[in-house]
Amino acid sequence: MTDLHRLSIRELSEGLAGAKFSSRELTEHYLKRIAKLDTQVKSYVTVTAEQALVQADAADAAIKAGTATALTGVPIAHKDIFCTQGIKTSAGSKMLDNFISPYDATVVAQGKTAGLVTLGKVNMDEFAMGSTSESSFYGATKNPWALDHVPGGSSGGSAAVVAADLAPFATGTDTGGSIRQPASFCGLTGLKPTYGRVSRYGIIAYASSLDQAGPMARSAEDCAYLMNVMAGHDAKDSTSMDKAVEDYVANLNATALKGLRIGIPKQYFNVAGLDAAVKARVEESLKKLEELGAVLVEIDLNMTESYVPTYYLIAPAEASSNLSRYDGVRYGYRAENPQDILDLYKRSRSEGFGAEVQRRILIGTYALSAGYYDAYYVKAQKVRRLIQQDFLKAFEQVDVIAAPTAPTTAYKIGASLDPVEMYLGDIYTIAVNLAGLPAISAPVGFDQDNLPVGLQLIGNYWSESQLLSVVHQYQQATDWHSKRAAIAEENA
Ligand code: GLN
Repeated sequence: MTDLHRLSIRELSEGLAGAKFSSRELTEHYLKRIAKLDTQVKSYVTVTAEQALVQADAADAAIKAGTATALTGVPIAHKDIFCTQGIKTSAGSKMLDNFISPYDATVVAQGKTAGLVTLGKVNMDEFAMGSTSESSFYGATKNPWALDHVPGGSSGGSAAVVAADLAPFATGTDTGGSIRQPASFCGLTGLKPTYGRVSRYGIIAYASSLDQAGPMARSAEDCAYLMNVMAGHDAKDSTSMDKAVEDYVANLNATALKGLRIGIPKQYFNVAGLDAAVKARVEESLKKLEELGAVLVEIDLNMTESYVPTYYLIAPAEASSNLSRYDGVRYGYRAENPQDILDLYKRSRSEGFGAEVQRRILIGTYALSAGYYDAYYVKAQKVRRLIQQDFLKAFEQVDVIAAPTAPTTAYKIGASLDPVEMYLGDIYTIAVNLAGLPAISAPVGFDQDNLPVGLQLIGNYWSESQLLSVVHQYQQATDWHSKRAAIAEENA
C-alpha cells in the first residue's frame, strides 16, 4: 500500500487489528518517507529505524497473539525533550548533544506499554524556549505548508512531522503555547492538558510550574487516542494528579454542542497585532459552531495586558533555576582545557547554551536576585493568581472560551523578529499555562498565502474530554483538518 500515511489513527488501529497491513509494513513505509522527504523538512534530530523495526515486529507478534492494545504497532515521533533510554535526548541544545538518556520519560514508557513504535526524536527550540524552532542547535525545521516558513515552536518538529506525514502523530510539550501554536501554524490539532494530567517525569524541564505534555495530530479523534495513553497519575511526578482518567475516544461525542456557551473575550479580538485573515477565519469558525448549536457569549478577560510581562518573568525565573544543573560536570557539554572550576562552569555554559537560552537565564536570575525578588518574581506570582481568577470568573458564565491560537500565521524563516516582538506572539497561549488550564488548537482555514489558521478553545480544569468532543464535532462538520500540504501528498 502506498498511501498508508493518509490513514487516521482509528483506521491504522483497525487496519492493524484486521491484518490489512502489518506494523512492519507501516513502519517501513514511514521510514521510507522520512528518508526521502525529511531532507526538505528537517524535522527529525534522530531517526531510530533499527529499534523501530524491532518494536514493529514485537507489535505484529502481539497482534497475532491477541494481546494488542488499540495502538499496538502504530508509529509515533517524540519531541526531543522526552528522555528516551539509550537514545540521544538533546532538547535542541548543544549542551545535551552528547546526552544519551539512561531512562525513559513516563510518557515514552506509557507509549511502549501501549505498543507504539518510536520512529525517532524531533526538533524543537532549544530547551523549548521560542516560537519558531529556529533556536535549535540543529538548525531550523521547515513548515510543510511553505518550506520558507517556520513550523512554529517550540514543538515545531512535532508539528512538521505530522503535517508532512512523516509520522501519524507526535508528542509535544507546552509551557506557554508550544503545542498549540505549532499545531496552528501547521494546520493540526494539538491539546495542552490541565497541569497535572500528564506526567512530567523525564521531560527536560523548562519552567516546572507551566510545563505540560500533550498530543499533536491531524484531528481531535487522533489526539484522543494518544491522550488515552498519556494521561494519568504517576508516582514519579508529585505534581501529577491522582484523578481518574476518562476514555477520551469513547467521549468524542459526549458533549452536546446544543446550548454550549462559548465565551468570546472582548479584549482578545482587539489585540493590536491580530492579523485580519486570522481574525476572519476564527470568526467564521465561531459562526459554524453557532450553526451547530453553540451560543456565543461576550465576556471580559481584564488581565489580558498582564499576560506577556507575567509569563516572561515567571518562565525565565524557573528556567534559570532548572538550567543551573548544566554545569559541565555531571553530564552534557563540557568546555575543553578549563583553567579552574569557575572557568569550567563559565565556558561550558557560554559555549553550550544558545543566545535565547542565555537571555532567559539572565532575565530569570535577575528577577530572582535578592534585591529584585519581591519587586519582580513575587509581584508576578500575585498577578498570576489574578489571571487565574479572571478565568474562573469567566467559567461561571461560559463552558469554554474561544480565541485565536496566535495573532498571525507562520513567520518566514529568519524574519529575525526581535525577542520582545516574538514574546508578544504568545499573547493568546501563555495565560492558559499560568492558570494551569487545558486548551486545544484546531485548524479553521487558511490566510491569503495558504498558511493555516488555528482556533483555540480554552476549557475549565479537567475538561480535556469536552474540548476534544467540541473540536471532534466541528471536524465532523468541516474538512479543514483533512487538508494536506503538497509535500504530504508526495509518495516515497
Ligand atoms: N514561546 C513561548 C516561550 O518561548 C512558549 C514556549 C513553550 O511553550 N515551550 O517561552
